[in-house]
Amino acid sequence: MKDISLKDRENNLCLVTRADYKRSVKAADLVIEKKGLTVMAGPCTVESKDQIFDIARAVKEAGAAMLRGGVFKPLTFPYGDPLAQPDSGSSQQKADRKRILSKNELFQKAEIRLGYLKEAGQKYGLPVISEILYADSIDMMSEYVDMFQIGYRHMFNMDLIEVLAKASKSVMIKRHYGESLRSLLGVAEHFEARGKHDFVFCERGVSVPHTHNIESRAVLDIQAIPALDEYAPSVPVIIDPSHATFKRRYVEAMSLAAIAAGASGLLIEVHPDPDKAWVDPLQALGFKDFEKLMKKLNKIKEVIR
Ligand code: PEP
Ligand code: MN
Repeated sequence: MKDISLKDRENNLCLVTRADYKRSVKAADLVIEKKGLTVMAGPCTVESKDQIFDIARAVKEAGAAMLRGGVFKPLTFPYGDPLAQPDSGSSQQKADRKRILSKNELFQKAEIRLGYLKEAGQKYGLPVISEILYADSIDMMSEYVDMFQIGYRHMFNMDLIEVLAKASKSVMIKRHYGESLRSLLGVAEHFEARGKHDFVFCERGVSVPHTHNIESRAVLDIQAIPALDEYAPSVPVIIDPSHATFKRRYVEAMSLAAIAAGASGLLIEVHPDPDKAWVDPLQALGFKDFEKLMKKLNKIKEVIR
């Protein structure tokens, strides 16, 4: 792994590192400000219409600015794809656990859930963000989302970079837990060089030899906040304490630390019944915890503003 050198800044990262660039990143009408506090909250997975409406109401009331909801899930193993579950209702059917969907079926089912996400966002005035996994889903997804998420596994996916560079919606680039800031800036430069400037970074933890408990897979890199600010001062940095800690009990502390350290916002998983979340049940916050967190975040923001 290499440090970011002066030569890099001049030759390889000349656009993303511009000091005086006025970057405008929007999700629908919402401006994601470098010095703002944009909280994106919602479930790992859109499980049903009722679930996403319930969550949208709760996170809006608590003060979130955007609704997140996964539809295409990059699962470690092929089984248990949430899209193989029924399109409505809240009970997961075990019989469907090992069903592998055809791509056609996957897209159709994803579209139904993206429809729920968009409707819920519209009802509560929350722009929506969802992860894109397949480059050829860009047109379909563009009908529903206000911002695209590139998951950490796809940080370098050139097919996604190519289609997203042409998209009219903004992009959130998640850093892979094993990748340097230099590489993350390189991905951003790929966008910049293609004329795409409305993106934000998302830090979701780095892999280290020892984490703090057996469930944690990563440790949140708080230092990435001032470092990215130094190298790419115009790009908002969103911190994802949910996927970084993988542990509900740590989410509040890391969120407060991130905002105190100058992050532009947070991505937080919220679920009405966190232990029963179809994906990532250990890290989602319940409604009460999320509300409590939002109150504390606003206080921190006032102090450091
Ligand atoms: C997610 O946001 O639900 C997700 C899967 O993110 P990551 O790519 O960080 O694991
Ligand atoms: Mn998740």
